Amino acid sequence: MQLVDTHCHLDEDAFADDVAAVIDAATANGVAAIVTIGIDANSSRRSVELAERFSSVYAVVGIHPNYTLAAVEGDWEVVEELAVHPRVVAVGETGLDRYWDYAPLELQRDYFNRHLELSRRLGKPFVVHCRDADEEVREMLRKDVAHGPLNGVMHSFCQTAESAEACLAMGMHLSFTGMLTFKRNVELRAIAGNLPLDRLFVETDAPYLAPVPFRGKRNEPAYVQHTLVSLAEAHGLTPEEMAEITTANACRFFGINL
Ligand SMILES: [Zn+2]
Repeated sequence: MQLVDTHCHLDEDAFADDVAAVIDAATANGVAAIVTIGIDANSSRRSVELAERFSSVYAVVGIHPNYTLAAVEGDWEVVEELAVHPRVVAVGETGLDRYWDYAPLELQRDYFNRHLELSRRLGKPFVVHCRDADEEVREMLRKDVAHGPLNGVMHSFCQTAESAEACLAMGMHLSFTGMLTFKRNVELRAIAGNLPLDRLFVETDAPYLAPVPFRGKRNEPAYVQHTLVSLAEAHGLTPEEMAEITTANACRFFGINL
């Protein structure tokens, strides 16, 4: 079984002491590719360094909505420069976050638009973070879809069926984290089980959101199989079948050749 962890944060402090061991553990658990994503200019730079150092690691570069206010002059230009690197497979994470309220919504929108424009310019997909901003994100996407179908993914999808449908209609993909395995998320599993198979990915968002049975612990790419099993069950498929589908989807989307 070959898996792709389509979203994690390997450059974070949580992995500072053992990143090589974490990647080895992922490989041992069938994770053939790991997509590590930046949250600001420095984190994006570190993500690219990890992708240069480890053959199974690919990078995504951008400025997370919660870090847009902290961005200083020149940071966006760093992201633009890094984005053309051959090991960079997408831009992000971008989007809107009204939960933490770390940055004014207008500034978040400005950066979201920059990522959308960069994505189209480079022909590389974009990765969306959406927290308590479902309507606002869809409004932004609806404006961008005027330029053509969207080549993006809603990362850590946990919104409504209606939201999923609207995103899919615009060409988006949806990616699921360990939240899919949480006992109380019966509704989310029902939604996931009704989605078209060719638009789905699995991810960890490590070091956050560890799936059952590791809930509350540090998450890592090796655990992505637990989310995969949940998604397979929701569709009445075997884990092997779901692995083949989601891995093919992720490789096509990010342009990864395993
Ligand atoms: Zn993330």
